[in-house]
Amino acid sequence: MTLAPPVTREGGTITATIQDSPGMRMLYTALNHLDDAAERLQLSPSIHRVLRSCERTLKVALPVEMDNGEIEVFTGYRVQHTNARGPGKGGVRYHADVSLDEVTALAQLMTWKCAVLDLPYSGAKGGISVSPQNLSEKELRRLTRRYTYAIMPIIGPKKDIPAPDVNTDERTMAWMSDTYSMLQGIAAQEIVTGKPIALGGSLGRADSTGLGVAIITESTLKRYGELVEGATVVVQGFGKVGYWAAHYLAQDGCKIIAISDVSGGYYNPNGLDPEAMLKYTKSSPTRTLEGYSVPGLERVTNEELLCLKCDVLIPAALEDQITSLNADHIQAKYIVEGANGPTSSTADKILHARGIITVPDILANAGGVTVSYFEWVQGLQAFLWDLDTVRKNMRRFMDTAFQQVCDLSDSRHVSLRQGAFMLGVSRVADAIEQRGIFP
Ligand code: GLU
Repeated sequence: MTLAPPVTREGGTITATIQDSPGMRMLYTALNHLDDAAERLQLSPSIHRVLRSCERTLKVALPVEMDNGEIEVFTGYRVQHTNARGPGKGGVRYHADVSLDEVTALAQLMTWKCAVLDLPYSGAKGGISVSPQNLSEKELRRLTRRYTYAIMPIIGPKKDIPAPDVNTDERTMAWMSDTYSMLQGIAAQEIVTGKPIALGGSLGRADSTGLGVAIITESTLKRYGELVEGATVVVQGFGKVGYWAAHYLAQDGCKIIAISDVSGGYYNPNGLDPEAMLKYTKSSPTRTLEGYSVPGLERVTNEELLCLKCDVLIPAALEDQITSLNADHIQAKYIVEGANGPTSSTADKILHARGIITVPDILANAGGVTVSYFEWVQGLQAFLWDLDTVRKNMRRFMDTAFQQVCDLSDSRHVSLRQGAFMLGVSRVADAIEQRGIFP
């Protein structure tokens, strides 16, 4: 099935179909949103052309000695979209489906996200095509060190600052920071963010993406005249974004009626307890929710979970979950995107036409990179903030961005996604125009 008519990309043609890889569809979606914003902003074709391209793309082969003595070769990427507003910033993900298309799309989304939050960064992203659950800790450490070495020519505290993303965490960042520092012969902890506290990490970084999703969910409910207390919420994904979003929303009185992880969906119309579910995963042999059971609980598929009747649906797993195939069946009033790129551009149009309000990823999940920014600032100044200072500043940045996106969407009569893209794209375009094209 064809998702939409072809659009041109860098002089060529890009047609994404439902059979295409998730990465290809994501890139297509990202470019569609950029094109839409460019048209509404009446951006000059020259600047639009610059924004459609990626400034630097690095693909690396990563030979790693496995525990059994064999050598496996993995493929890694680091993509820097632009350097218009500051050094590159963005996570590194470890997943079997990582591809150049996906990393390119994610780097572009980071550019718009940083610009919407008015952070002095440009977008970048990295990834390794690997199933991390099949590697031992030692293999993962060797892979991470080799990857850091391989991308070292293009990263740096004032060049491009990696961070955690899907299947990477503070342990990964500790290895990256150590590898970079050892090879450079300096203490350069500010090379990455999302580090352990003991290595210069920031208080409040670990739960920041999920907390940001909760803040934006509550602001959205209030803006549209809904009560936070008792609002029904469905969360797809129970990783660091989904869990913390569910935790903070439950704490503020929302009723979390469904949660899913790789083992499937868990639905209870009377409400679920995210704390108890997390505790269960810690002691379960598979480290998942498989086997979790409480009175009133129903098992649902991932597909059924997305289509449950609720006030708020939070897709906080992977990209391309809400597509032309299921957008007609979504019953949520609001969608708050915890994941990057969970909604295809065709689905986005269907949801908008059906009156479902979607808060886009580049606003909704920006709490993580916002606190990454604070971590980087603390590292550069060698001066650590207390948790209260981190939280207050995070809320200030999130509230300001939310208000600016809402104001622009209202004044231009566009969706929140279109408003967010217009805000982000206009800020980056403005920076490029003021700097001029080198030389
Ligand atoms: N991976 C996160 C994101 O997609 C955080 C990036 C960062 O902190 O640099 O926003």
